[in-house]
Amino acid sequence: MHVLHRDAPSTGIGNDSGGQTPHAWEGMNYAPVTPEVTTALEAILGSRNVATDLEKREAYSYDEVAKQFWEEPHLAEVVVFPETTEQVSALLSFANERHIPVTPRGAGTGLSGGAVPACGGIVLSFERMNRILEVDTENLTITVEPGVVTAEITKAAAREGLLYAGDPCSGDASFIGGNVAENAGGNKVIKYGPTGASVLALEAVLADGSVTWFGGKRRKDVTGYDFAHLLVGSEGTLAVITKIILKLLPLPARVVDLLVPFPDTESAVTCASKIMTEGKILPASVELMDHRSISLTERFLNTRLPGSDAGAHLIIQLEGNSAELLADEYERVGDLCRKWGALEVFVADNRNSRDKLWKARKSIAEAVIAFYSKYSKEDVVVPTSAVPELLKALGDICARRGLETVTFGHVGDGNMHVNLLFGEDRQNWKETMEEARRELYTVTQQLGGTLSGEHGIGLKRKKYVSHFLDEAQIALMKRIKLAFDPKGILNPGKLVV
Ligand SMILES: Cc1cc2nc3c(=O)[nH]c(=O)nc-3n(C[C@H](O)[C@H](O)[C@H](O)COP(=O)(O)OP(=O)(O)OC[C@H]3O[C@@H](n4cnc5c(N)ncnc54)[C@H](O)[C@@H]3O)c2cc1C
Repeated sequence: MHVLHRDAPSTGIGNDSGGQTPHAWEGMNYAPVTPEVTTALEAILGSRNVATDLEKREAYSYDEVAKQFWEEPHLAEVVVFPETTEQVSALLSFANERHIPVTPRGAGTGLSGGAVPACGGIVLSFERMNRILEVDTENLTITVEPGVVTAEITKAAAREGLLYAGDPCSGDASFIGGNVAENAGGNKVIKYGPTGASVLALEAVLADGSVTWFGGKRRKDVTGYDFAHLLVGSEGTLAVITKIILKLLPLPARVVDLLVPFPDTESAVTCASKIMTEGKILPASVELMDHRSISLTERFLNTRLPGSDAGAHLIIQLEGNSAELLADEYERVGDLCRKWGALEVFVADNRNSRDKLWKARKSIAEAVIAFYSKYSKEDVVVPTSAVPELLKALGDICARRGLETVTFGHVGDGNMHVNLLFGEDRQNWKETMEEARRELYTVTQQLGGTLSGEHGIGLKRKKYVSHFLDEAQIALMKRIKLAFDPKGILNPGKLVV
């Protein structure tokens, strides 16, 4: 990495309950998983694909929401590992008939409790449906099963000189099925959009076991409702995804990352929005790391980043096919950053320095989990021009409540990952956390923002949805849920039902 030298109003969010009751949801009473049910599942899936031991059931009952967050334990009654769409179909048909809840599960890296079996029942893991079925270099598509790790798709595409643009920070672990079900975002949303923007088609198994394809290897399609994109972000509540066709793009020949330290977070976020509005340049990524994020990730990785004593950093990624044009572009971005208060501009233009930079950025969420057991990871998103105001309000909330925070994220698209952190010995931490969350959500709403940009609603944020969506919209969501899943067996307790 080298230094770039210059030659040149409130509704207020109240404390409503909206809690959860195991085995019953909005009047639903589910059937238990008896030994007879387990035997039937073994007949459908083969006994090696059915697990009932407590250790496995516990391991597949949580995601990356802190376990201490939940008021009560959640436990799968059985975990199943189908290997084919036909098995998933037979399984859902059986569960629907018996009225047993089914919670689809990817890699369990979710940050909303989406894969947590709120009503017990069957956890449906996709880890054995993990094949890349085809890379189509004529139509620029890749067809995969839902259990493929996201980074494997990136690598398979790159081997053909192609780009899969989905890039969540959890990509080395998360599954593509989980990415689609959450409409995962990540680091390249400003240029390429979230996961849904790459989805061309989905094979889905409906609640009654019927199998259908939504979409195809087509860049456009207005024949009927866009069900593929209704399933994107539906968190496993409408149907189960068993195959995915993703769009690929030509891989840019050259990529450069700038690491830009600023004296404080305010100047960094102000500058972030200027790159596009004033510079008229579209980067692939503009990411923020506040001072605490940097310290935490440096401690976690036992490393040092250039300029890491600064108040905040931006990472700005630029792509292109011509070395000259790209150099001209990053010089212009560098100038703009200095104009808006950057202390320095470091250029990472080789694989090693770029990997080091992104490893640090992508490890922040993990570092929080490693050093804290009591935390809440928030995922609010506001219009980009409102980010400075959001962070100022956050500073006030935390100062008033004596709270530690780490704030980082996709500042280029207004999506901030606010981490509310509590020491082991902090008393009444849940009350303080809830009050801080409510205040944060209120400010977010006042600024025209919303509850989650990419991590989803799941079990964790469900009780706040009604503060962001009006009654008409929630009623419509419930009717859609009813149309897809009349008996309410698919991931009950999430989103709105
Ligand atoms: C360190 C870290 C960094 C992260 N960084 C990002 C980031 O940059 N951007 C981002 O968007 N998220 C990020 N996340 C959150 C998380 O990784 C994403 O939400 C991811 O998409 C979850 O994928 P998963 O396979 O782990 O799904 P899970 O957590 O297992 O499940 C998520 C949801 O998908 C549903 N689901 C899973 N598979 C299917 C299927 N086949 N059919 C139907 N429903 C299904 C589940 O029921 C659940 O509701 C991060 C998480 C961690 C821990």
